[in-house]
Amino acid sequence: MTLSKNRLAIDKLERRKFDTLVIGAGGGGLRAAMQMGRVNADVAVVSKVFPTRSHTVAAQGGINAALANVVPDNWHWHMYDTIKGSDYLGDQDAIEYMCRAASRLVIELEHAGVPFSRLEDGSIYQRPFGGQSQNLGGEQAARTCAAADRTGHAILHTLYQQNIHVKTHFFDEYFALDLIKSEEGDILGAVIMSIATGEVLIIEAKTTLLATGGAGQIFRTNTNAMINTGDGLAMALRAGIPLQDMEFFQFHPTGIAGKGMLISEGVRGEGGYLVNSEGERFMERYAPNAKDLASRDVVSRAIFMEVQEGRGCGPNKDHVLLKLDHLDADVIRKRLPGIRDMSMTFMNIDPIEAPIPVYPTAHYTMGGIPTNRHGQVVVPMKHGAEEPVPGLYAVGECACVSVHGANRLGGNSLLDIVVFGRAAGSHIAEYLKENRYHRPLNKESVEQILKRLERWDQSGDGETVDSLRIRLQQTMEKYCGVFRTDEILKEGVDKISKIAADLDGVYLKDHSQVFNTARIEALELENLIENALATVISAQARTESRGAHSRIDYPERDDEHWLKHTLYFKAGRKLDYKPVRMKPLTVDSFPPKPRVY
Ligand SMILES: Cc1cc2nc3c(=O)[nH]c(=O)nc-3n(C[C@H](O)[C@H](O)[C@H](O)COP(=O)(O)OP(=O)(O)OC[C@H]3O[C@@H](n4cnc5c(N)ncnc54)[C@H](O)[C@@H]3O)c2cc1C
Repeated sequence: MTLSKNRLAIDKLERRKFDTLVIGAGGGGLRAAMQMGRVNADVAVVSKVFPTRSHTVAAQGGINAALANVVPDNWHWHMYDTIKGSDYLGDQDAIEYMCRAASRLVIELEHAGVPFSRLEDGSIYQRPFGGQSQNLGGEQAARTCAAADRTGHAILHTLYQQNIHVKTHFFDEYFALDLIKSEEGDILGAVIMSIATGEVLIIEAKTTLLATGGAGQIFRTNTNAMINTGDGLAMALRAGIPLQDMEFFQFHPTGIAGKGMLISEGVRGEGGYLVNSEGERFMERYAPNAKDLASRDVVSRAIFMEVQEGRGCGPNKDHVLLKLDHLDADVIRKRLPGIRDMSMTFMNIDPIEAPIPVYPTAHYTMGGIPTNRHGQVVVPMKHGAEEPVPGLYAVGECACVSVHGANRLGGNSLLDIVVFGRAAGSHIAEYLKENRYHRPLNKESVEQILKRLERWDQSGDGETVDSLRIRLQQTMEKYCGVFRTDEILKEGVDKISKIAADLDGVYLKDHSQVFNTARIEALELENLIENALATVISAQARTESRGAHSRIDYPERDDEHWLKHTLYFKAGRKLDYKPVRMKPLTVDSFPPKPRVY
C-alpha cells in the first residue's frame, strides 16, 4: 500500500505549530521548558512516559554545587575536580560555566520548591561524593546537595509543577519518531505518534530541543529505566548529525549484584565501604588517598580486578560487598531510606544488619549529540570550524557539551541538566525574538519518516524484537564492557554489525493501533542498534586508556595522539575527531596531569 492512500497519508495527518518543541520531559527538558515558559514562549513538551516517570526521577545521591555548607569549597575547586574526573577530555570553557552557575541554580531549585535535606543550621545538607576535593586535590570535599537519597524525584516533581504554572503544553505518552529537516538542513520540528491510539502528528516548531536522556539499555545489566533507549541520539544520527565520544560509557561500581539496580555513591559518601572475600578494604590498595571515594571508573576497575583475581564473594565469587552495617542505624534510615528499601526488596537484605552484594553496572552515557554551552547542536564544517544546526538544540544526558569528558563525577549530571537546560531555554528565547516565523514544512522529510514507521506494518516470519534486543545487550556487555582489547572490540563490531543487518528480518505479529507497545519496542530497538554501533566502533578506534574507556592492550593515556573528541557519523559508519577545548572562560587552563586518587 502506498503512503498516499493509507492512514499515514501526509495530508490526512494533524499538524500543530509551536514556537518550541521539547522532546523529553526529564530534568533537562523541563528546566529548559520552564525557562521559555517564563518569557511566554509557546512550548510543547513531548514525552513517551508521563513526565514525572522520566529517568531523572530515579536519581538518588544528589546534585553538586560548591555551597560550602559543610566544609570550605568554591567553584574553582569543583572545576578542577570535574576536569581531572573527565581525564582531561572535558571542554574547560563549558566546565567553568557549569561549576560557576551551580550554586545559583541549586538555590533557585530550593526556591522553586525542592525539599532538600537540612543541616542543623537549616542550610542545605551536602554529602561527600567520589572525586571531590578541597584546594585542588587536597582533603575530601562535601559538595553533593541531597534530598535524602531521592534527589532526582524531588527535582523532577518540582520542575513539573513549575511547568504547569507557566502553562507548558504537554504531549504525554507520545513517541517522537524523527526530526523533520528542510533541504537546507534546518530542523523544522518532529513527527510524533500517540502511544495510546497510534495516531501520527506533525509538530512544526521554530526550534526543537532534544532532551531524551541516555542509552543505558544497550547493555544487559544497567541502572537505567527501560525507556532509556537513546532515541534522541539515533534521531540525530539519522538527521546526519554525528555523535561525540560514544566510547565513554560509565559503569557504576555499585549495582546490586546480578540485577544491576543502582546503590548510590551516597552510601560510600555516608561512610560505607567495599570489602572482598578476605574482608579486606581493597580500595586502599587502588586509591590510597580517596579510597572508596575515588572516581567511578577507578572503583569499577578495582572491583573487576578483585573478582578476576579470585577474591570475589558469594558461592560464585562473582561480586564484592558494600558494608554499611557499621553506620548508625538512624543515619541509614534518615539519609538512605531508598537504598535500604531497595536492598530489602530485591535482595532480602537489611543493610543495617548485613552488607549488600554489588558489582559494576552500566550507568551513564558520557557521549552524545555535540553541543556548545548554549545547548546549540554543532556540526563540523569543511574548514575545521563548527557551526550550529539552525533550529536544533540538545541538553542533558543525550547531549555532549562536553562537561563529563571520559568519566562523569557523581552528582554532576543533575547539575548538567539544570545548568544547560536553563542555558538552552534562554538561548532559544533570544533566538525566537529574531526568528519570528515557521519555515515551510518539507513534505519529503516527513514522507521518509513515515516510511520507517510503515515498515513495521509489513508481515513476515523471523526473529522477534525481544530476541534481537537481548542479543544486542549481551553482545555489548561481553564485547564492549569495563575492560577492552582490540580483539574483543573487533569481534564486538562484527557482531553488532550483524545484528544491525538482522533487523531487516524482524517483523511484528501485532499491527493494531491502540496501545501497541510492540511497535514502540521495535522503534526503540532500531535506536538501540544505532547507539550500540556508534559506541563499539568509536571504542575500537581509540587505542589508549582514558576515563571509562579502559584498554588492556593500550593501558596508558596517550595525550599526544588522543587528547581529542571522537565524532561518529551514521553515513558509512565513519569517524572523525575534533580538538578538546582546553581554554576556560576566565581562569587558567588545567593542563593534563597523571590522574591519581
Ligand atoms: C538510577 C540512577 C541514579 C542516578 N543518580 C544520580 C545522582 O544522584 N546525581 C546525578 O547527578 N545524576 C544521577 N544520575 C544521572 C541523571 O539522573 C541523569 O543523567 C539525568 O537525570 C538525565 O536527565 P535527562 O533530562 O537528560 O533525561 P531523562 O530524565 O532520562 O528523561 C528523558 C525524557 O525523554 C523522553 N523520551 C525519550 N525518548 C523519547 C521519544 N522517542 N519520544 C518522546 N519522548 C522521549 C522520556 O519520556 C523522558 O521524558 C542517575 C541515573 C540513574 C539511572
